[in-house]
Amino acid sequence: MSDKNQYGMRTVAIHAGEEPDPVSGASSPNLVMSTTFVADADATFSAEAMEDETCWIYTRWGNPTVHQLETKLAALEGAETAVAFGSGMAALFTLLIHTLKSGDHAVISDVAYAALSETANEMFPQFGISITRVDTSDPENIRRVLTPRTRLVHIETPSNPLLRITDIAASAEVAHQGGALLSVDSTFATPAATRPLELGADFVVHSLTKYLGGHGDALGGAILGSEERLRDVRRKTAIRAGGVLSPFNAWLILRGLATFPLRMRAHGDNALKVASWLEGHPAVKRVIYPGLPSHPQYELARRQMKNFSGMLTVQLHKNAAAARTLAEHLKIIHYAVSLGHHRSLIFYLGTDDLLQTTFKLTEEQLKSWRRYAGDGVFRFSAGLEDPEDLIADLEQAFARIN
Ligand SMILES: *Cc1c(COP(=O)(O)O)cnc(C)c1O
Repeated sequence: MSDKNQYGMRTVAIHAGEEPDPVSGASSPNLVMSTTFVADADATFSAEAMEDETCWIYTRWGNPTVHQLETKLAALEGAETAVAFGSGMAALFTLLIHTLKSGDHAVISDVAYAALSETANEMFPQFGISITRVDTSDPENIRRVLTPRTRLVHIETPSNPLLRITDIAASAEVAHQGGALLSVDSTFATPAATRPLELGADFVVHSLTKYLGGHGDALGGAILGSEERLRDVRRKTAIRAGGVLSPFNAWLILRGLATFPLRMRAHGDNALKVASWLEGHPAVKRVIYPGLPSHPQYELARRQMKNFSGMLTVQLHKNAAAARTLAEHLKIIHYAVSLGHHRSLIFYLGTDDLLQTTFKLTEEQLKSWRRYAGDGVFRFSAGLEDPEDLIADLEQAFARIN
């Protein structure tokens, strides 16, 4: 796999980062759990002085199995390199503490992953870092709040949970004109839909726990970008912060990645079928799915996404009663948090709860949230089951809502 550009995504997903083992000839990746590697006499004990990432010393600095995963992720994302983390949040947190210091300013999407929102609202201001939350679905909102101290613009597209889309190329242009870097949380989109680095982003962040691992059995995260920027992220921050990925999880995620492009097609097909069925159901008030013409940014979604992914939200006329009914009566679909697994998942996100605990928004932002989400949404992660079975499961549970 020396020339990655020559192969399609399905081939890359299977072969990138995986050479037969030179000692045993093993065709599938070995799992190297060793924390420590026997060094030669002139090995250095400083991460910053490390010459070659494939000269193994200590697993917090780098590990062969984790490195195989990083190579495959980079190939899928069209990135020069990747750094893997123990979770998506460890990746996001490391990126923020790496790029921001006291006195700096960052712009973060007002709808972003809950734990990131809390970090941005509560933690970073304590470090003397100011953060402005804006609705990035209009990049002009980013331009308006840029200051000479703005170092980073962070967007999430589609956003969790509202599925709002942000124009990556336009955001990159605005950020760069203001002298800031652009990072994109592409967990919902995945590289099957969008490759943000090709649209001008400086960093891409993934929760590998979701579609990339794909089976709900391994937490993981990654930052991807250029060799130059990521070398510093790894040596100056990731290795010291220590939120590295377990080799065992790397091995599970590597295995999940082999089928990633095929899974994304099936996730997208199932989500579209379920979303279309939901749109015609009398219990349903509103469905938001980037692959439906009713999505307020359908044109942008079509332009920016090659696959609409498997996430949709649905509002019911009797949201609150329905949450209990669905939790008790769904047979196949699990009533549970998280997303991107082979198994379909649904979970109710009440607007008041979320806004009180997680998102500290201005009046205008609150209105915009309610315009999208009403008093709450069910976040549905379409799995890989037969779509007829998913629809039948929803139908029998909906019939019990009263
Ligand atoms: C889940 C998620 C994260 C956090 O990932 P973890 O692996 O749970 O730490 C970050 N961003 C988005 C969009 C997510 O869905």
